[in-house]
Amino acid sequence: MARILNGKEFAARMKENAAQGVRALRTCGVHPRLAVIIVGNDPASEVYVRNKQKTCEELGILSDHIALPEETTCAELLACIDELNADEEVHGILVQLPLPAALAAREEEVLSRIDPRKDVDGFHPVNVGHLFIGVPGLRPCTPAGCVRMLEYADITIEGANAVIIGRSNIVGKPMAHLLLERHATVTLCHSRTKNLAEIVRTADILVAAVGRPRFVTADMVKPGVTVIDVGINRIAPKQLVGDVDFDAVSKVAGAITPVPGGVGLLTVAMLMENVVQAAKVQTEERGGR
Ligand code: NDP
Repeated sequence: MARILNGKEFAARMKENAAQGVRALRTCGVHPRLAVIIVGNDPASEVYVRNKQKTCEELGILSDHIALPEETTCAELLACIDELNADEEVHGILVQLPLPAALAAREEEVLSRIDPRKDVDGFHPVNVGHLFIGVPGLRPCTPAGCVRMLEYADITIEGANAVIIGRSNIVGKPMAHLLLERHATVTLCHSRTKNLAEIVRTADILVAAVGRPRFVTADMVKPGVTVIDVGINRIAPKQLVGDVDFDAVSKVAGAITPVPGGVGLLTVAMLMENVVQAAKVQTEERGGR
């Protein structure tokens, strides 16, 4: 049976880091603050936003919940972002995705409007570029949280064959860069990949970010592999499963994250670290305050 990589345990360490950062900033009179904009009323997004706010409260980070109606225009959303960009008390800005259908086509424009120094999701092209060329900066929370977990769990990344299934801008692609900069040999797979199972079987570290329930089966993995299951798939009103067939794969893998209780918790914890990092950088830029 594989070692279970318990997201709660690793997230607790990350949250403690963030809490320490909050305490240090507060001694300098700075109170880290996150503004979350949510447009419309997607129930899943509302749950995610509530979780983020709860974690902010737990760590002493101020959080503003800006709920805009479904029919908000792009100009109104951009104006809201501009206002937050200009507000020195706000250190982090996050626009909850997905945007309603009428705004979805302008997602790039919306995300690019956030001041890159306040872009705690790490989706702004400037931050994406920094990741690509290896300049320190705000990194996307899900992949950054996963990599931090690997480090905390003492799983060797350097020299490992890392296979990622999924090439989205928020998970797969940034994950590839984060593992590459830690000297893994990275293979990025997607829906057009040929011989997927054969490639997946070469993985020492496997990241599944596909969005298909139990897509990775036991016959696709090498004994001893470390499996990070990013997927969150609701298969019944109260049942979430990952992209990995946990029951079968955990008998072959060396280590594996569960769903729920795995990567989702790391994502929120990493967001908190990003808010603290953003607040520190902005405070230093303003000469310490
Ligand atoms: P996307 O839908 O944006 O991307 C899915 C990727 O999977 C695409 O690159 C797609 O390939 C690839 N794919 C789809 N079908 C196949 C297939 N049959 N074989 C190989 N590759 C395939 O998803 P996200 O990256 O946004 O999310 C992935 C999963 O992670 C979802 O379940 C999501 O809910 C979850 N998630 C969890 C988070 C957390 O905090 N735990 C945070 C973010 C996401 P192609 O590009 O060719 O279409």
